[in-house]
Amino acid sequence: MLAQKQKMCMFALAFYRLPPQKYEKKKCSINLIINMKTAVKSAPAELNVLNDMKTMGHEQIVFCQDEATGLKAIIGIHNTVLGPALGGTRMWHYASDADALEDVLRLSRGMTFKSAIAGLNLGGGKAVIIGDSRKQKNEALLRRFGKFVDSLGGKYITAEDVGMSTRDMEFIHMETDHVTGLPEYLGGSGDPSPVTAYGVYMGMKASVKYVYGNDSLSGKKIAVQGTGHVGQYLIGHLVNEGAKVFVSDIFEDRLKECTSKYKVEVVDAEAIYDMDMDIYAPCALGGTLNDDTLNRLKCAIVAGGANNQLKNESVHGKRVLEKGMVYAPDFLINSGGIINVYGEIAGYDKQAAMKKAEFIYEVTQEVLKISAEQQISSQVAAMQVAQRRIDAIARINQTL
Ligand code: NAD
Repeated sequence: MLAQKQKMCMFALAFYRLPPQKYEKKKCSINLIINMKTAVKSAPAELNVLNDMKTMGHEQIVFCQDEATGLKAIIGIHNTVLGPALGGTRMWHYASDADALEDVLRLSRGMTFKSAIAGLNLGGGKAVIIGDSRKQKNEALLRRFGKFVDSLGGKYITAEDVGMSTRDMEFIHMETDHVTGLPEYLGGSGDPSPVTAYGVYMGMKASVKYVYGNDSLSGKKIAVQGTGHVGQYLIGHLVNEGAKVFVSDIFEDRLKECTSKYKVEVVDAEAIYDMDMDIYAPCALGGTLNDDTLNRLKCAIVAGGANNQLKNESVHGKRVLEKGMVYAPDFLINSGGIINVYGEIAGYDKQAAMKKAEFIYEVTQEVLKISAEQQISSQVAAMQVAQRRIDAIARINQTL
């Protein structure tokens, strides 16, 4: 069986034009179930999947295709030292298979660090389904995907991500038990946003304590970008504590919903970067800490729920440090979502999830201290803390 899989790898990788010397037969953990015609047509010559896996430290990548349903998906398993690789499935209309692969490699690696720093016994994984979720998503396609997830025997556990809903998780669940983020009526944990927002609030307070000597948000000028799920729950905490909250969104209805609930001031979506504020809280999309915005932002702290806030981890992480701004790493302070979902595996309890999210306060303080002492970006400091935990557990696993 193994020999057969290795043969498949050899065959598939030949189509990806990997140099033969790069293919290490013994170490081959890749499991390719691939549409060769697609690979030949759309894979660019420089695609070098095993090398990318090696550079980024991935264990396994699973390519899935099914002609009957039109399913094209990639499951990325980055690291399973701490436990099964858990991470959501994203359905997106990628411009190319290479773009989808790049996304799954990056996202699954991010999940390893997020779960490790959150103290969870989970590894990092993620899946992408290639296609337009509004046009191509249907029960059959999702159930076929569920069968692929099931074939991994629990090594990868899926959840919701962009382009997916709790209803979609139900379809996947019809074919596999390795699903989290199910609706509450199916024994799931439902919407993770309240726990995510609470963790962001904890990370923000820890950053305020670090900068101002006490963690009160009363009177602080805080600009929340994005009044969606996480943004609105976070705004609730901030307003309750007496902060002066400014909000922006690109959709009028979201802003209306927010202003009808909370006493906040609406600011223009683009002007938010030039505001006089103490804290910038990105709760919309990633990449908002970039060359342009870092020339404009004048705040003392950046602490928000959005994923991948640094456009370039190393370049902009360093720029933030040089500017003397305190950045609470996104994957640390937004880990409430994965904490919430993790509860489903052991038996869900919302209070326990909230309690665990409170530890984000302590860990943020530790990370900011390391960052200042070693003059490394807080992003790098947080990754080191996560990696230390993975390495320590890997050592005890070896001795057992
Ligand atoms: P959401 O879609 O409910 O909210 C995002 C909001 O941002 C929307 O209202 C959208 O209109 C707004 N927005 C988009 N672009 C904007 C812009 N340029 N300026 C201002 N507003 C803009 O999403 P969410 O669930 O609240 O997630 C927000 C962020 O947090 C995402 O980056 C997500 O990946 C991350 N995150 C969410 C969770 C969770 O539990 N939901 C967990 C971890 C990380």
